[in-house]
Amino acid sequence: MNLSRLGKPAAFLSALLLTMPVLAAEPPPAVDPAVLARVRDAAMNSDWAYQRLSDLTDRIGPRLSGSPQAEAAVVQVAAALRSAGLQVSLQPAKVPHWVRGEEAAELVEYPGRPDGIVQHLRLTTLGGSVATPKAGLTAPLLVVHSFDELKARAAEAKNAIVLFDVAFDQDLADNGLAGAAYVQAVEYRVKGASAAARAGAVASLIRSVGGADFRLPHTGVMHYDADAPKIPTAALSAEDAMLAARLAAQGAVTMHLKLTPQTLPDADSHNVIADLPGRDKPDEVVIVSGHLDSWDLAQGAIDDGAGVTSAMGAAQLLKSLDLRARRTIRVVAWMNEENGGGGSKAYFEANKDRLVQHAAVIESDSGAGKPLGLQANVTLESVAALHPVTEALRSLGAAAIERRDEAVGADIEPLQNAGVPGFEPLLDGRSYFFYHHTAADTLDKVKPDNLRRQVATLAVLAYYLAEMPEPLPRLPPRKEEN
Ligand SMILES: [Zn+2]
Repeated sequence: MNLSRLGKPAAFLSALLLTMPVLAAEPPPAVDPAVLARVRDAAMNSDWAYQRLSDLTDRIGPRLSGSPQAEAAVVQVAAALRSAGLQVSLQPAKVPHWVRGEEAAELVEYPGRPDGIVQHLRLTTLGGSVATPKAGLTAPLLVVHSFDELKARAAEAKNAIVLFDVAFDQDLADNGLAGAAYVQAVEYRVKGASAAARAGAVASLIRSVGGADFRLPHTGVMHYDADAPKIPTAALSAEDAMLAARLAAQGAVTMHLKLTPQTLPDADSHNVIADLPGRDKPDEVVIVSGHLDSWDLAQGAIDDGAGVTSAMGAAQLLKSLDLRARRTIRVVAWMNEENGGGGSKAYFEANKDRLVQHAAVIESDSGAGKPLGLQANVTLESVAALHPVTEALRSLGAAAIERRDEAVGADIEPLQNAGVPGFEPLLDGRSYFFYHHTAADTLDKVKPDNLRRQVATLAVLAYYLAEMPEPLPRLPPRKEEN
């Protein structure tokens, strides 16, 4: 957040008025504040987006890339956007097709184990994992708390199952830093298997990346490095990771682990694209988006049903108000954010000669909490230009601007790396990682009022960015991370 910048235009203006009282009246604002207020108020009186979210979650459910449900979601969302009066097209994208199988883990030896007793653990396979042998594997368990500890104990990792017992820092999330808490824990989900494999492990486990105590395992994507053998990997519930760690602290622990996922050939899928054409510069585009795919354990209501239907709702609202901005407002329902980014890559490839015509990009992918403002990957000078947006959102308590120098929203990252200013609504994330990527990501977690606020935030922002006479300054080009 950069409150000092927000104060500047007002201070400058009052100084100007004091020193030059005879100046002619100011020109009218470039975008009428009354129109922005009308958009906001209309959003707060519409449940169109919530109805679309109900359709997506209750009629289809989980939408992992390559699944029949993901394809049903493409068809359903395209139809909804078409009946809202937008110009709809489907953009082909290749996506991975990974299918979860059985998943089971038991502690079969541990200090003080009574005869005949084993401990069954709750776990879920990480997306992209290879399988164990059909009957499972049995190996000693090595519990570590960091990559450094794994290095120091590499000899013990050989032929073992490594468990990275790294807790999600809910305290950070409680203080508005859910994203930072996620980033520091998710490293073990993404890189843990290859790190363990390099040390000679036969399987790798993490403590679930999540902040609640419901004994729920959290899935999510992982990545195999080319220089390490591929070993099976899964996430234990936090409680069961703690159990295993307590027993391992007392002596030798042996685990039996069975995971039977399959990786099928890549599948053909689509992004859904829907345009509300600009009245003046139809070739210039402002994207408002969310991702259509979800993990397979639940309905994907908060990740990212809420985001994608809010983006749809923003465009539907503007269309229903008969508001056509200068530039085209383009809804994108991205496919395959969760495990590959196939939709994002397909869009960038198809538009790489039209990047300069992208004025701004917005993606909502942080859940369904109450909007507090905007995360903005924009130049420092752009913040003052966003003042009318924050003024319009102030009565909703959504006037904060958190300016960043890195990309927001995974699907729109390539466009930002090419210089397009990027936005994501800043949402209350305190409970997001309670349910994220678990079997509890269901419609009841979304409050209809919060969804209306999210539509209001996206609609006001998208309309303003599409209507302002000159687009925001481009970002300095940046190399893609990874
Ligand atoms: Zn997401």
